[in-house]
Amino acid sequence: MNLVLLGPPGAGKGTQAEVITQKRGLVQLSTGDMLREAVKAGTVIGEEASAIMKSGGLVPDEIVIKIVAERLSASDCANGFILDGFPRTLNQAAALDNLLQAQGKQLDAVAEIKVDDAVLIDRISGRYMCADCGASFHDTNHKPKVPGVCDRCGSTELIRRKDDNAETVRNRLMAYYRETSPLIGYYFAKDKLRSVDGMAPISEVSSQIEAVLANS
Ligand code: AMP
Repeated sequence: MNLVLLGPPGAGKGTQAEVITQKRGLVQLSTGDMLREAVKAGTVIGEEASAIMKSGGLVPDEIVIKIVAERLSASDCANGFILDGFPRTLNQAAALDNLLQAQGKQLDAVAEIKVDDAVLIDRISGRYMCADCGASFHDTNHKPKVPGVCDRCGSTELIRRKDDNAETVRNRLMAYYRETSPLIGYYFAKDKLRSVDGMAPISEVSSQIEAVLANS
């Protein structure tokens, strides 16, 4: 099962990808996570991406396409994957089609997670994550069971992303509407697009995505 999660920053793509990958044994491919790792490791890609990510812009297509191409050819993707944060431009979507075609694979569905802008801003400014395993949390909507301790791995290193601030969020939303929202039409035309209500509680959104997968 190969799925793309499409939606603006804060829609819950990462949270939903976590839930569904655990349930179904799929691999979560988050280009945001891959780029943050490259920044942390100080690689050439990381150096190029760092300032762009801080400003809320999009990293150039050729960089992210290269990262995804490498990752998709790894053996753990054979049983299926969830792409979270890729593609984000029409160029990236076309490149993904080519990559999958070359591997004899295809997308089963694209789940568009729809959320109102005001809610997105609130979600992003309250969210934080585990520095060790990447599990995500929120100040009010999704607190860890034990305060300050990651539910998934028990780490106490819970951190906020550098780009989760009001100023950068505006740029990230603009980048979404300008560059990424055309993908809604792109996948609709291919009859791959399925919309889910991202305003619903986390478990309800997961059920809606499960229903999309079951019908694909
Ligand atoms: P995310 O974790 O998905 O919110 O991504 C964080 C940041 O990484 C974005 O604001 C972009 O700067 C960059 N990024 C992640 N994925 C992509 C992509 N597919 N294309 C371009 N830039 C990306």
